[in-house]
Amino acid sequence: MKKHLVEPGKKIKLSERDPQDIGDFKGGKEEGLKAISKLNEKLQELQELLYAEGRHKVLVVLQAMDTGGKDGAIRRVFDGVNPQGVKVASFKVPTGEELAHDFLWRIHKQTPASGEIVIFNRSHYEDVLVVRVHGYVDKNVWSKRYEQINAFERILAENGTTILKFFLHISKDEQKERLQARLDDPTKHWKFSLGDLDERKLWGDYQAAYEDVLNKTSSTHAPWYIVPANRKWYRDLVISKILVETLENLNMKYPEPKDDLSGIVIE
Ligand code: ATP
Ligand code: MG
Repeated sequence: MKKHLVEPGKKIKLSERDPQDIGDFKGGKEEGLKAISKLNEKLQELQELLYAEGRHKVLVVLQAMDTGGKDGAIRRVFDGVNPQGVKVASFKVPTGEELAHDFLWRIHKQTPASGEIVIFNRSHYEDVLVVRVHGYVDKNVWSKRYEQINAFERILAENGTTILKFFLHISKDEQKERLQARLDDPTKHWKFSLGDLDERKLWGDYQAAYEDVLNKTSSTHAPWYIVPANRKWYRDLVISKILVETLENLNMKYPEPKDDLSGIVIE
């Protein structure tokens, strides 16, 4: 999974990352789905432990082009995980009140508490993506935000938050197919917005904006992973594996009971 990491300080080019990649995973989809199920069981256990221990906070950031699969990934990776300790925060076009504050105001409020996992479906990165591509603020405003984001994430990390950031990388052709599938299926029409077609015309600008995000904001305490996402099963496998490995490395323990439980007999 290391090959998908954006190493802090190293420059990547998105055009050199293959959205179709399945890494070293030779088993194909069938094996992939089995592996995801096993990882999902582990994730359920680890999440329970995280919640019981109540010490760590976990933040998972998901970013992607339209149809990139954020929703599908959340559904599959977190399938069956106790909803008590897991939250999804979706960031849409900011409200008037949100716009009247600094761009991190609405974000900070949604960060995980102790024992929680929070998944960001879109995030503060929109403020250097859609906002930059459409010029909603001047360049001298958005260009300072990379450093501001790094500082913000450092504050979270130094206060006990484990941060993982995933860019779901699809190809332009794959997006076309997925948009077409939404058009062809009446039960998917609700997901289709004409605005998505306008955004698609800006594909190149978005790729450039993503490249800057990945190169300027991947750090040891908040690394970016570029997840090849044309194949949904590989996308879910990569996210599951990185998440499970990261949680395992926290070396969590169930807390000791508050009282001495030895020799207790329940009548
Ligand atoms: P998604 O596309 O994430 O699956 P959705 O289709 O349900 O969600 P949309 O309204 O299409 O909902 O998505 C949210 C929209 O809000 C996106 O177009 C995104 O670019 C926009 N957005 C998010 N954050 C900001 C921001 N800070 N400034 C401007 N636009 C933003
Ligand atoms: Mg959308």
